[in-house]
Amino acid sequence: MTGRLSIVGLGPGAPGLMAPDAQAALAQATDILGYQPYVARIPARPGLRLHPSDNREELDRARHAIALAQGGARVVVVSSGDPGVFAMAAAVFEALESVPTAEPPRIEVIPGITAMLAAAARCGAPLGHDFCAINLSDNLKPAGVIAHRIRHAALGGFAMGFYNPRSPARPDGFARALAVLRETCEPERIVIFARAVSTPEEAITVTTLAEAREDMADMRTVVLIGNPQTRRVGGWTYTPRSWAGA
Ligand code: SAH
Repeated sequence: MTGRLSIVGLGPGAPGLMAPDAQAALAQATDILGYQPYVARIPARPGLRLHPSDNREELDRARHAIALAQGGARVVVVSSGDPGVFAMAAAVFEALESVPTAEPPRIEVIPGITAMLAAAARCGAPLGHDFCAINLSDNLKPAGVIAHRIRHAALGGFAMGFYNPRSPARPDGFARALAVLRETCEPERIVIFARAVSTPEEAITVTTLAEAREDMADMRTVVLIGNPQTRRVGGWTYTPRSWAGA
């Protein structure tokens, strides 16, 4: 018997921001795997086995999930936000590639609302024009690549979303990101710190590059950088859909 492996995005936090298909996969699951705080968001019920693990164990977790599904289980691997954004979906396919199996399980990827889009919606429409997402963690790529991408995104006029901006293990990466932005962007550039969006601890700060400080970000914050035309209207922040001069 071949089971099923669903790779599910839980959204940014609020239950109402989770897709009905994600809720259905969770309701049918026999086994749930994921980083411990995300698995903790799933209520226990009889017949459901929870397998929380550390956040550095993504490939092992993915291999475990594949093996359980091959054994006939209905497995759900959970990520916060969207599972394809700096999360478990790519890890599962990497595991599949590195351990070719006779019969791969049925796999489905169920999308979720990623942090930068949830944060943007809270503020108005700061990502109304072209934008990109950059993971500031240097666990899986060199710091030089991060600086290069930020510089070129800024030169290209993109708005940006920074994930994993700052953690106790990586106290300096976000300061370096701000330094790169200060070389390429004007001091008035809008910077948004969106922490724990859609949870009871939500806190949003809209400021400028001149006023932004590294201690305004932590592991639960996504940082949005506007494009040169991002502006405020009333209490809202938005980026016009047309590029000035177009
Ligand atoms: N797959 C997730 C991202 C995982 S990386 C997604 O699509 O959102 C973890 C980073 O996501 C955090 O360091 C933070 O930058 C961001 N993040 C996740 N949930 C968040 C939330 N509710 N509010 C603000 N940022 C969040």
